[in-house]
Amino acid sequence: MSTDENDPMCVAREERPVVVFPQKMLEGISALERAISQQTDWVKGWHDKVLLHRDPNHVAIQDIRDLPIGAWFSSEKALPFRNNPVFSRLEQRLIVMVEQTRVFSQVDRAGKPHSVDEYTRFMNTVLDVNALVQQLQNDAWRLFTKTDPLTGVRNRHDMMRELERERERSRRTRLACCVAMVDLDHFKSLNDTYGHVVGDKVLRHVSELFGAHLRPYDMVYRYGGEEFLLCLPNTILETTVSVLDRLRQTIEKDGMPYGQNGAKVAVTASFGTAEIDTDEHLVKTIERADMALYEAKQNGRNAVKAWRGGRKTSS
Ligand code: GH3
Ligand code: MG
Ligand code: MG
Repeated sequence: MSTDENDPMCVAREERPVVVFPQKMLEGISALERAISQQTDWVKGWHDKVLLHRDPNHVAIQDIRDLPIGAWFSSEKALPFRNNPVFSRLEQRLIVMVEQTRVFSQVDRAGKPHSVDEYTRFMNTVLDVNALVQQLQNDAWRLFTKTDPLTGVRNRHDMMRELERERERSRRTRLACCVAMVDLDHFKSLNDTYGHVVGDKVLRHVSELFGAHLRPYDMVYRYGGEEFLLCLPNTILETTVSVLDRLRQTIEKDGMPYGQNGAKVAVTASFGTAEIDTDEHLVKTIERADMALYEAKQNGRNAVKAWRGGRKTSS
């Protein structure tokens, strides 16, 4: 029998919050690039000072923050990387590196030659740190390409592949999974009244509400301009309808302060949802959620409708 680890369809979900901040990620990546180059200089300097004994009072390392990568690791710039499991592995290797550097200092002070084994262990740690940092960088760029720059939710890059993975997981686990379409109401007139800048702020605000009210493994995609696609794994249709209705009420009541002098801008959204039928193509589920959304629009908007096998019911 296959296990989650060796079945390609059972891969763990990507560890990312519902909303990420693209600007913060870019700043984190730039700071990491600078730290990598400083770390290379540090290792060169270390060879020079410690191995060639040009400077007997060589670099004193007390803490990972005394290493350029460690300083980056401990700074705010590294915050967007914390969800990645590689991040804590990097911390462990940096702690080892600090310890190994100390051993070299002690040997130096005792006037004994450095052992080849110690040097090999230290260089292996340097290489491990390089590999982990490289992986963090690659993962960050990959996440960046999958993130909508305006709202920080996922873009449509890989959407079908990720939804397909959820359909397969649902088939295998027999746990229900629902897809929902969300469309902001009368958004054209909101733009016409307040301008596109306010429209953009509202899109960001709504995305943050999704982030605050959904679970970390729920997925939110910007499907089109003011349309979002949500995927709620391990959730039956009844629960999905109540989750969506809470979201609908939150958007309606939140009152977004982007009008003149902080006046509240009225925003509402319509929702349509359908449960994934694991025997059918995903496009069918999306079409059904879309039909339920159409029904919500027809019925006066600011509503949630669910597709129930040919029967649409509202909350
Ligand atoms: P309905 O309630 O039927 O959905 O009406 P609507 O006005 O929301 O729908 P319509 O499709 O007519 O208009 C969608 C508007 O969304 C038009 C477009 O200018 C706006 N929009 C799309 N993308 C963005 C964006 O990134 N920023 C802003 N500010 N507006 C956007
Ligand atoms: Mg629309
Ligand atoms: Mg709309």
